Amino acid sequence: MREAVIVDAVRTPVGRRDGVLKSWHPVDLLAHTLKAVVQRNKLDPAIIDDVIAGCVVQAGEQAYNVARNAVLSAGFPESVPGTTVDRQCVALSNGGLVRSRLVVIATGLGRQLLGQAGIAKTTIHKAHVLGFGFDIEAESPAIFDTSVLVAHGERPIDKIDYLTLFAIETKIRANLFTYHDPDDPWTQSLRQHPLQTLRRMMPRLEDVTGQIRAIAPVEYRVVDLAEATGHRRAGVVLIGDAFQTSSPAAGTGVSRVLNDIHRLCEVHVPVWLATDGMNTSKISKFYDDPIKQSCDAEALRLAGYRRAVTVETGLGWRAHRGRVALQNLIRSRLERLARPRPAGQGGPSRSWLGGGIAPPPLH
Ligand SMILES: Cc1cc2nc3c(=O)[nH]c(=O)nc-3n(C[C@H](O)[C@H](O)[C@H](O)COP(=O)(O)OP(=O)(O)OC[C@H]3O[C@@H](n4cnc5c(N)ncnc54)[C@H](O)[C@@H]3O)c2cc1C
Repeated sequence: MREAVIVDAVRTPVGRRDGVLKSWHPVDLLAHTLKAVVQRNKLDPAIIDDVIAGCVVQAGEQAYNVARNAVLSAGFPESVPGTTVDRQCVALSNGGLVRSRLVVIATGLGRQLLGQAGIAKTTIHKAHVLGFGFDIEAESPAIFDTSVLVAHGERPIDKIDYLTLFAIETKIRANLFTYHDPDDPWTQSLRQHPLQTLRRMMPRLEDVTGQIRAIAPVEYRVVDLAEATGHRRAGVVLIGDAFQTSSPAAGTGVSRVLNDIHRLCEVHVPVWLATDGMNTSKISKFYDDPIKQSCDAEALRLAGYRRAVTVETGLGWRAHRGRVALQNLIRSRLERLARPRPAGQGGPSRSWLGGGIAPPPLH
């Protein structure tokens, strides 16, 4: 077996984006290094068996076979072959490196890796929803052992979609979704005095929960609805919130990311791996998948619906809210009739809507 040896190392200068190298075609830049290797080592290019070049983003001017084009641009004989390796390399925030033929980016709202891949996000709706999270102490914590309490905003003017209270291990967590402006004084008030602010808008809350007290700092997140642009790239695919932000209030984020995983694993990746390369047209098949597209579109529709049904004051929306509230009331009464529970045992999640509809009483 013949030994491989390293005879020389040559690289181009390091340039900034839009810097001195910007007018060099990538093929010519690579050809420059190839010529330097053979000239410095007084080699006859005709003896070269193969030129293998790595190219992270095989798109635009770097599309097609950069290595082969560089061989020709360097003036090497046509007999010298060239292969471009489309192995992606991604640097993680923990310092780790991932090198692979296909990189699936599932970094949620984090934008660092998208930036590395040259992918941007376009905002569809700025500050679409504000999410607040804090822990509480309850006078009757047993209520939350088996129940998730969901309290909807009562009036459009309050811009509260809903509050959920549920147990996580030994703690009781409150998650609140609202459509207030992040700069609104109400937002500041909720961050500083969460329960006092909530009590003004949900005066019946403690009729259901018993006395509650916030015990931890309020975490606060402004969620912009956004979608990726420039994402059709060789060797890189985005899934879940990395591709399109979900509204946490709509509760579609998990099903969207699972749908993406399912479509990738069951349909697309097996086909992609069956042939060489991982070019843009392969990756595009995933983004153009009608099942993925309809799942993403439904998530956006629901995000808009939740906001509108919470804050819109037009006659149509008021009638719609009344109809939904009535349906919910009838459903919850029928459920309770169908499944009477012995006193003292926890029950299914309970909820109430605004518009004067009382929550189901606790057992
Ligand atoms: C308070 C709240 C409540 C929600 N409730 C619901 C609900 O009830 N139902 C529902 O369906 N959805 C809900 N959602 C939305 C749901 O959580 C998200 O849509 C879903 O988690 C998106 O999944 P993902 O895998 O795309 O991203 P994420 O779950 O956000 O995962 C991304 C991961 O990537 C990591 N990461 C980011 N950048 C880097 C990097 N550079 N290097 C390494 N790792 C990185 C992050 O740390 C994170 O672990 C809620 C969201 C919030 C905030």
